[in-house]
Amino acid sequence: MGLAERLSDVDARIADAVRASRRAPEEVTRIVVTKFHPASIVTDLHALGVRDVGENRQQELRAKRESLAPLEGLRWHYIGQAQTNKARHIRQDADAVHSVDRVRIADALERAGDGAPVLDVLLQVNLTDDEQRGGVSPADVEQLATHVAGECPTLRLRGVMAVAPLDESPASAFARLADCAATVRGIVPGATWISAGMTGDFAEAIAAGATHLRIGSAITGPRPMRG
Ligand SMILES: *Cc1c(COP(=O)(O)O)cnc(C)c1O
Repeated sequence: MGLAERLSDVDARIADAVRASRRAPEEVTRIVVTKFHPASIVTDLHALGVRDVGENRQQELRAKRESLAPLEGLRWHYIGQAQTNKARHIRQDADAVHSVDRVRIADALERAGDGAPVLDVLLQVNLTDDEQRGGVSPADVEQLATHVAGECPTLRLRGVMAVAPLDESPASAFARLADCAATVRGIVPGATWISAGMTGDFAEAIAAGATHLRIGSAITGPRPMRG
């Protein structure tokens, strides 16, 4: 299968899952994760109608965004770990940052604003027991959401993001994420985004209320190795 076939195959599976969950198709945005692939794949995806793309490294996001500036209507989602010393670049290059997981990164993104347009942000939640993993623990979601809503006027809190743990069924993990999403909506009612679902679990994520799917290899094919 080529890129166009894989994209339409995934989109058909998304449509099936949306129907099975009795949800409306407009509620679900499919982000194509293009990390490690050359910028040319984004050009190809754009020609196929893709507008939302995801990257997880700041330098790669910057390079692709610069080389693809003439492509119209692309929205770049930053889904990787956010480092405070990269906040300025991330702020310049991303249309949405899915990986705000601590006060320090929220504050760094806020300070990097400097007259830039308001930045959409999501709180990344750690659904594992491993505290080393990226993401705020579910117990601390409320506090972080309160901070972003109260102290970061140039960040627009849109919702939550998570990666399902490997050692648990995606459905139960995504149910915990849905609880965190409700907590955030209790603070910012408009924060309705739930970024969840990858190649292996997007149907479960849709069933659990995901609004933004981050799908890589099912559409792009295997990622080139990183040396
Ligand atoms: C790479 C990545 C994805 C996409 O993964 P696939 O399994 O290839 O669909 C989604 N989310 C995050 C945070 C990623 O880093």
